[in-house]
Amino acid sequence: MADQFGRLLQDLRISVTDRCSLRCRYCMPREVFGPEHVFLDRGALLSFEEIARLARIFVRLGVRKIRLTGGEPLLRRGVADLVAGLAAVEGLEEVTMTTNGLLLPRLAEPLRRSGLRRVTVSLDSLDDHTFRELADTVQPVASVLKGVAAAKAVGLAPVKVNTVVQRGVNDRQIESIAEWARDSGVTVRFIEFMDVGTTNGWRRERVVPAAEVVERLHARWPIEPVHRPGAGMVAERYRYLDGAGEVGVIASVTRPFCHACTRARLSSAGELYTCLFASAGLDLRTPLRDGTTDGEIEALIAATWFARTDRSSQLRAEGGLSGPRVEMSYIGG
Ligand code: SAM
Ligand code: SF4
Ligand code: SF4
Repeated sequence: MADQFGRLLQDLRISVTDRCSLRCRYCMPREVFGPEHVFLDRGALLSFEEIARLARIFVRLGVRKIRLTGGEPLLRRGVADLVAGLAAVEGLEEVTMTTNGLLLPRLAEPLRRSGLRRVTVSLDSLDDHTFRELADTVQPVASVLKGVAAAKAVGLAPVKVNTVVQRGVNDRQIESIAEWARDSGVTVRFIEFMDVGTTNGWRRERVVPAAEVVERLHARWPIEPVHRPGAGMVAERYRYLDGAGEVGVIASVTRPFCHACTRARLSSAGELYTCLFASAGLDLRTPLRDGTTDGEIEALIAATWFARTDRSSQLRAEGGLSGPRVEMSYIGG
């Protein structure tokens, strides 16, 4: 199933809730996502059966990997049952999750038993003060670290950690995070701060180019690039020459990878987005609930993917990205 630029539909990110236990300033600033904010009610969310049904349809169209995200996916009640439902979908190679990690001490074990393969934990600082500022929370970093440890303990491995780097916020901590990851057997990926949504106060000066991150890491612990295994891999991978594992960078802003983007996104309300920077999605919840057949839904998705011309990060790099777009917490990272 190829789009207008020949990109195959291979990965699906599913947001299972728009709620979150943190208020990271770059994602869900409290001024916007405060007590007044209206989140989706239960009936508006896709049920686990609906998600599994869509997963089977997406697999027929070529999807091989599904990542659960949010909001905070672990806040969705019974999420391990959803994982079990997805793990049973024939033809799906992998079910993974991106989480803030806070509920992993309780849920890592049931998730592992349900068939989750790996987990990515988001962590932007090891310093309590910076973490609390960034995530607008009273939680200490230790709460996230306990989640990472729980994931490792049950074999959700290798655990990956995502760190969004912002100049003047946590960029001085790159080496300390890398050192912790090397010592803990975790692969960290440093992500460029992106202008997703319209509420996160993005400024270009805040972006630390991945090339700068690589240079700094190399100066401290020599690294070499690892050959990328295939299309759709967004992280640029490096290997420490001293054998202490790998580290990655995701250069969405300075080295956009739209040409290789094989990813679709499903919002928790059941809309299909063909780009992280899209302003609108295709409603799949209505057809799921009004008796439309699987074949017809498959045709709707196929037509949308076929028409796809998204390349927003490329356009940004060329200076032409503007207009309204959906919030990250709504469709997942
Ligand atoms: N709550 C989960 C978590 O934090 O891992 C899953 C959802 S979160 C939206 C997914 C990922 O998007 C996180 O790793 C987060 O750091 C990243 N993210 C959110 N806003 C971002 C931004 N403006 N630029 C880059 N990454 C961002
Ligand atoms: Fe929540 Fe994840 Fe967004 Fe932070 S990045 S506010 S943890 S959804
Ligand atoms: Fe894919 Fe859109 Fe990101 Fe480009 S900007 S890599 S098309 S999600």
